[in-house]
Amino acid sequence: MKKITIAIDGYSSTGKSTIAKQLAKALGYAYVDTGAMYRAITLFAIKNDFIGGKQGNINALVNLLPKINLKFVYNKDLGFAEMYLNDENVEKEIRTMAVSRQVSKIATVEEVRYKLVEMQKKMGMEKGIVMDGRDIGTVVFPNAELKIYMTASPGARATRRYKELLDRGEEVTYAEVLQNVEDRDYRDSHREISPLKKAEDAIAFDNSGMGLKEQFERIHNFALRVIEKKA
Ligand code: C5P
Repeated sequence: MKKITIAIDGYSSTGKSTIAKQLAKALGYAYVDTGAMYRAITLFAIKNDFIGGKQGNINALVNLLPKINLKFVYNKDLGFAEMYLNDENVEKEIRTMAVSRQVSKIATVEEVRYKLVEMQKKMGMEKGIVMDGRDIGTVVFPNAELKIYMTASPGARATRRYKELLDRGEEVTYAEVLQNVEDRDYRDSHREISPLKKAEDAIAFDNSGMGLKEQFERIHNFALRVIEKKA
């Protein structure tokens, strides 16, 4: 059976990664969470004191980009790949609010995007991949056979994210999480380079109030139909 490329884009905390992971598993495809890559570069910037918006900080980060080694390592106990930054497992650290607060600023840096988009294109060369992010259907894989653009109300998304953070033991308020979701939405969709937007040929998928099972079944069906046509 011919393999296809599946691009899933959308605002933060729309549940893209949950569906993308399930879909990849069902199809026997690779899954790549591109947000983890932007988060890992942001963690690197935080650890090196390059945060603060000053041009000097951005220049210092850009100069060190060739030295930043990112890789996904599959953890078979967890059933998904974890992010490694310069050979250190940073999967937990990149999901903290400290990183969420800065990531959409770092994601506006042209050189950062260039490095990560190149890596992502390489990962998808063989097809058989589900990739989620903000610019996958528009920039990374404009020819993807299936593109999904996930949306949900900011309230539904903040509630989801708030629960996740509490489960991980972070001390956050709902208001803070909602504010972060709205700030990132704004930055991600208004930046100059590769802003978040629906690709013309993407299927808009609003999952507000929809359970995981139904979301998965619908998107899995979209994928099966495209794969059948290719066969
Ligand atoms: O998907 P996640 O919410 O973890 O992504 C974190 C941030 O990384 C986003 O808010 C966005 O600023 C950035 N990002 C991006 N392009 C992608 C994936 C993520 O700019 N393809």
